[in-house]
Amino acid sequence: MDTIDYDNFAEKCAEDLKQLQDKFDKDYNISVYENWFYNQATGLLTFSTGDNEINFRYADVGSFSEKSNTWKWSWDNEHTLDNVKSKAELIREFGQNNNFSKLTTGFFESNEVEAWEFAAIAAKLVNGLGVYRPVNDNQLKIFLVVTEFVDNETAKTIKDKFVQCNAHEYKRRAFVCRHLNKKDKVGFEESFETFENMELGDDDDFQAWCNECEVIRQREDGWNDKSMRFADIRLVCEECYFEMKEANLGHR
Ligand SMILES: [Zn+2]
Ligand SMILES: [Zn+2]
Repeated sequence: MDTIDYDNFAEKCAEDLKQLQDKFDKDYNISVYENWFYNQATGLLTFSTGDNEINFRYADVGSFSEKSNTWKWSWDNEHTLDNVKSKAELIREFGQNNNFSKLTTGFFESNEVEAWEFAAIAAKLVNGLGVYRPVNDNQLKIFLVVTEFVDNETAKTIKDKFVQCNAHEYKRRAFVCRHLNKKDKVGFEESFETFENMELGDDDDFQAWCNECEVIRQREDGWNDKSMRFADIRLVCEECYFEMKEANLGHR
């Protein structure tokens, strides 16, 4: 393979991004929506006006700080979840293969024009639909590559898997019986063996109940109206779930 020149490559990507953005605007017309929202946990970027919304999957490219004039790739950012930065690894790999130090150095002095170039390179390498830069008052400008359109039904299924917890913010949902809590040892039966931050299949949820519920469940030969009524399952976040598990099984 011929070696390619970084400046030429970056320039070409920036050129191509213009066309890509035009097409993205034409196809989805996101500028008509009043609100935007993105969430690392769901990996979804949402534009909405009232109940009318459109969703995409996105990859976090990195961020440019106006304050310090620095660029930080998302793969170098410990605050960014793997969920949205795994694609950025492709950029680093590409940089390694081509000896492009700007793509392999995590954090360095830069400027906004260059930040757009990085976003353009990312869009090219991950085959994105376009680039989105959420505009807020923050001096930290985050660059996202929109990777995939997500229909509303799929987006709802994804979002329904999460819950806003007062103690832990936005987390995956979990289900527990009304008896489980973070203090008392009441037993901890699970629908399958769990560990923190484990991946879940589309049909799996964290589910746990206490010893008392287990006795009723066995007597009723499983979950039915009666055992369900006794358990009175409630929704908590996954961190609360593991705090309850620790309280019950931990040796503290
Ligand atoms: Zn119970
Ligand atoms: Zn919680």
